[in-house]
Amino acid sequence: MTPQQFNSDLLAFLTEATTPFHAVAALVGRLEAAGFTRLPAEGEWNLQPGQCCYLTRNDSSLLAFIVGSESAPETGMRMVGAHTDSPCLMVKPSPEKQRSGYFQLGVEVYGGALLNPWFDRDLSLAGRVSFADSAGALHTALVDFRRPLAVIPSLAIHLDREANQSRSINPQTDILPILALQADTSVPDFRSLLRQRLLEEHPDCGVERVLDYELCFYDSQRPALVGLREEFVASARLDNLLSCFAGLQALLQSDRRRSCLLVCNDHEEVGSQSSSGAQGPMLLSTLRRIAGTEERLGQLVQNSMMISADNAHGIHPNYADKHDDNHGPRLNGGPVIKVNANQRYATNAETAGLYRLLAAQEEVPVQSFVVRSDMGCGSTIGPITAGGTGIRTLDIGVPTFAMHSIRELAGSEDACNLGRVLRRFYNHPGSLAPA
Ligand SMILES: [Zn+2]
Repeated sequence: MTPQQFNSDLLAFLTEATTPFHAVAALVGRLEAAGFTRLPAEGEWNLQPGQCCYLTRNDSSLLAFIVGSESAPETGMRMVGAHTDSPCLMVKPSPEKQRSGYFQLGVEVYGGALLNPWFDRDLSLAGRVSFADSAGALHTALVDFRRPLAVIPSLAIHLDREANQSRSINPQTDILPILALQADTSVPDFRSLLRQRLLEEHPDCGVERVLDYELCFYDSQRPALVGLREEFVASARLDNLLSCFAGLQALLQSDRRRSCLLVCNDHEEVGSQSSSGAQGPMLLSTLRRIAGTEERLGQLVQNSMMISADNAHGIHPNYADKHDDNHGPRLNGGPVIKVNANQRYATNAETAGLYRLLAAQEEVPVQSFVVRSDMGCGSTIGPITAGGTGIRTLDIGVPTFAMHSIRELAGSEDACNLGRVLRRFYNHPGSLAPA
């Protein structure tokens, strides 16, 4: 696949994947097109060599794997992990507000969102809705309005002369999106609006009454290649759909001889503690079923390795002092090995060493990141997975700007290069542990 083809598919994926639910649906569509089949969580699996399968949890986390022709406990499972969720604004359960003649929705901030960039954007809304049909049975479906239907206007500078020095944002009062002018005092019923949208998207769904929902506002501006020579990819949710997509491409292009696995978890941005998050049992219970016995699971854990792929912070030319001078990754300088002595990243010399070998074989440059010693460090699903399973783990990611903004920026060569090294990892014929 050429880098151009990779990027055009990446932009299409980012456009589809407006919420974790839509990200999983977009991943599933691509997996099924490549011959992967869904495993019944409740039934027996009877896995056979060569089988390509996937399962989902909560419709928002996904785990896909290939049963290699070589035994997974003996040769190890090659695993890549990423996350499907991104910081955003989510609609509250009783959201309708009428203020100064405008119809607004109350929102809750999901994750560590950078709130300033949410102002003056053409916002759309998407997520999962539960509803009852006329027989009273429970269903769920995804909805995505796919058009701008809300905006959070800035306060004019004339009304706040200190805005450029000291404007702060109160998430309870300052960021309610405006959806409509409201001439009279009757506030529209949000669930009725959702029912209407459900019928538009799923005419045969039989919705009688909307029960509940998990809905995220998102920027309707489409992802794009930008820069004088299209050096950059600009999009919402690059953290961490870029890594989900690179992992997917690597899995689809692997030679399918060794056992390979891709896990994309929801809820990383809020600590990973949920039934579908990295602290939940999804990965370990799947490995247990693949291995068959506790004895073979123990073997599999020792012989396997996980690459946790999640974006890194590129050195920003306007704020270069936020990085250690020797560890300022540049966009398009190659994926970054993330190191933290305090185990906020799970990288160690063994796992980083193997990655450097694989990247050299693929002729992909490698950069390193360690946070300034006088600043705190972020984290990923890497240490959580390593701690929960005992599997040796590496933390890497492509360098980006504006992490957790409504529009982030990555280099247009790095994602494709990440995919190439991950494919090399999936195909790696040797042991994953040092000799
Ligand atoms: Zn992330």
